[in-house]
Amino acid sequence: MDFDDTRNQAAFRRSARSWLEAHAEPRAPGDPGPGNMPESVDAADVAAAKAWQQKKAGAGWACIGWPVEYGGRGATPIEEVIWAEEEARFRTPPDLMIDGHRTCAPTVMAHGSSEQKQRWLPAMLSGGEIWCQLYSEPSAGSDLAGLRTAAVRDGDTWVVNGQKVWTSHAQYSDWGLLLARHDPGVPKHAGLTCFVVDMHAPGVDVRPLRQITGGHGFNEVFLDNVRVPDDCRLGGVGEGWRVAITSLMNERSASLGDGGVDQVRDLLRFMKTVALENRPAIEDPALRERWADFHARARGVELTGKRTLTALSRGETPGPEMSLMKLVSGRLLQEVAHFAMDLTGASGGLAGDALTSSGVDWAAQYLGAAGLRIAGGTDEVLRNIIAERVLDLPREVRADKDIAFKDIPAG
Ligand SMILES: Cc1cc2nc3c(=O)[nH]c(=O)nc-3n(C[C@H](O)[C@H](O)[C@H](O)COP(=O)(O)OP(=O)(O)OC[C@H]3O[C@@H](n4cnc5c(N)ncnc54)[C@H](O)[C@@H]3O)c2cc1C
Repeated sequence: MDFDDTRNQAAFRRSARSWLEAHAEPRAPGDPGPGNMPESVDAADVAAAKAWQQKKAGAGWACIGWPVEYGGRGATPIEEVIWAEEEARFRTPPDLMIDGHRTCAPTVMAHGSSEQKQRWLPAMLSGGEIWCQLYSEPSAGSDLAGLRTAAVRDGDTWVVNGQKVWTSHAQYSDWGLLLARHDPGVPKHAGLTCFVVDMHAPGVDVRPLRQITGGHGFNEVFLDNVRVPDDCRLGGVGEGWRVAITSLMNERSASLGDGGVDQVRDLLRFMKTVALENRPAIEDPALRERWADFHARARGVELTGKRTLTALSRGETPGPEMSLMKLVSGRLLQEVAHFAMDLTGASGGLAGDALTSSGVDWAAQYLGAAGLRIAGGTDEVLRNIIAERVLDLPREVRADKDIAFKDIPAG
């Protein structure tokens, strides 16, 4: 890959930067990046996120990789990266729409009818409507196809009953992408259908979950006789698994962020200021070596991402790089936060970014990092994927694959 912008890419970058300079403040060192969620999101955060999205949409800078017919500008993957790099230089509201834009929208584009695309995509792009993903359940996470939320057809509507959990952004979402079981009499993957649920419909009950960080980024969602019109079914009856695979592939790349480059840079700044035995931590050779190791891994993830982009820009389909990148960067982010906490000493146990000289709330990162190794595929599940698809090792035994779901022993 050529790391220098081509003439066209340089012009694109200038144009993006000049719009951003006119509409946003530059990000100061330590300011949270666009992917960083606040511990708790309030109405003002939602309004700010919607306003920023609306402003971008008005100027043609929202979801730039989307086709023009839905409000995007059909930008190339490289242009999307350039825009993301430029936007990250500025102070912008938290991206509360990431699940909608990066996971739900590609799924609607791939499986929705033209009416469904026109109905949902422009409103999602302009920030008018926020989406969440109603997939995981108390007994179905890694084994998502084992979910139990039931959708029973009643004329032109479906009646949905069940419980979802860990649903990010549900508390302020307007729509939810729901995977439900319409037929327990066939093997588990075959009995699933995907729907788009109005989160304000009667019977939808969103209950925030309090996390170890003190925030409540995700929720339990109870569905009690929720009526979903058949025209909100995404894909065919029984095609739910195929639809879900589209969103899961996109979710994995969305949950990556920049793979740790930002955090490793923050750590370097921190090590230059925090004193250890009367000198900045960075002057200690052993600690410097740890930092270099973090840097090398973050750069490896970054370059693997660029290789994926190169493949995409040549019209090739990337392989399992996303699983590799997520596996490495999830662990890296947790180790970086852990290391920073060690350097912070006793005050690391306290929360709040005012407590660290670098302006980074390492305690929050430390507590939140474990979730990164679970969301979008746990480490073990990613290792299974790499083992089976890259290393060609024997496939995991799947004893319940050909049994009707209702006959799989449970409880
Ligand atoms: C921050 C965060 C945000 C999330 N947001 C959403 C959301 O918006 N919508 C949504 O639907 N879900 C969301 N999730 C849920 C997430 O998708 C699940 O937590 C994840 O798929 C793991 O499922 P589980 O929690 O049920 O764990 P389990 O699947 O029960 O796993 C428990 C343990 O068993 C291991 N394990 C499971 N299967 C295997 C196997 N075959 N081989 C080896 N080890 C295995 C796992 O690696 C893990 O260590 C979110 C989770 C997090 C942490």
